[in-house]
Amino acid sequence: KNANRAMQDAKLRQGNSYDYYHHKMSVAIERELALEAEFRSALRHGQLRLFYQPRVCIATGQVIGYESLIRWQHPTRGLLMPDEFIPSAERSGMIVPMGYWVVEQACRDLARLQELGYDELICAVNLSFRQFYDKKLSETVFRIIYNANINTGNLEFELTESAMMYDQEYTQKCLKQLTQLGVSFSLDDFGTGYSSFANIQQLPVSTIKIDKSFIENVTTSADDEVIVRAIISLAHNLQINVVAEGVETEAQLAFLKRHHCDEAQGFLYSRAVDFDTFLTYLCAAKAA
Ligand code: C2E
Ligand code: CA
Ligand code: CA
Ligand code: CA
Repeated sequence: KNANRAMQDAKLRQGNSYDYYHHKMSVAIERELALEAEFRSALRHGQLRLFYQPRVCIATGQVIGYESLIRWQHPTRGLLMPDEFIPSAERSGMIVPMGYWVVEQACRDLARLQELGYDELICAVNLSFRQFYDKKLSETVFRIIYNANINTGNLEFELTESAMMYDQEYTQKCLKQLTQLGVSFSLDDFGTGYSSFANIQQLPVSTIKIDKSFIENVTTSADDEVIVRAIISLAHNLQINVVAEGVETEAQLAFLKRHHCDEAQGFLYSRAVDFDTFLTYLCAAKAA
């Protein structure tokens, strides 16, 4: 009799845990769908913003470019950071139209800067590997930047190694087409992926950006110090420009300068800010 009851209990628990799991899953799916719909409307209603963070030449201290970073000015939740909506946009495919908006906005702002005489600045734009799923990527980007009133030689796209992993042949074709417009490419988050230097030689990449996780401990961890020095020296042997991201302290900057890293980006100089604030930053930097 006891054994019977124990079996019934177990069945009930199983049933309950199934219901519980099923419930949690449908809540997660609903939340994801709601976020997707909300993001779709954000794109339509102009709630996305492009912020800019300077990239500085370590040897001269001059601002030589900037990275474009997306934000979502949410009507009730405030300014949302990319990690709050990019993963979902990648899963839903909304990253594709979002990515085109980013390129368009970056070109509009770059045109304004070039008109104001800042015509040497490199404007870097992030491309997600998921944007390469769109078979019209190079065609569409080509059309956007061809129609923008900019010098395309000042445009740089930041890729991660996952873009190379997805479909090497297609990626290479896309990059080659865009290179013909004069744009350049950099490899982002360098050191976090696989076979990094093997990828570099097969692609038209002129810059690598050392991931901020290595820079964070570069003055305190012997391992990270060795890695960063090795990346810089290998890149230089291949005539590749090196940017350190996530530079927050003078000590990190001094280390990078000692080891001939080309450029630095990080809170030490500025966070990513809106266009007007960035313009003020550029003015002050020029006067200094
Ligand atoms: P990422 O491309 O590696 O961008 C650098 C991130 O590091 C940015 O975070 C930037 O604000 C942050 N950062 C810069 N300096 C420092 C520093 O000194 N310390 C620390 N702790 N962080 C620093 P953000 O803006 O939150 O962007 C996160 C990621 O979202 C980006 O990483 C990129 O993968 C993605 N993302 C941002 N904008 C876009 C976009 O327009 N398109 C695509 N596809 N992805 C984007
Ligand atoms: Ca980036
Ligand atoms: Ca990065
Ligand atoms: Ca990253």
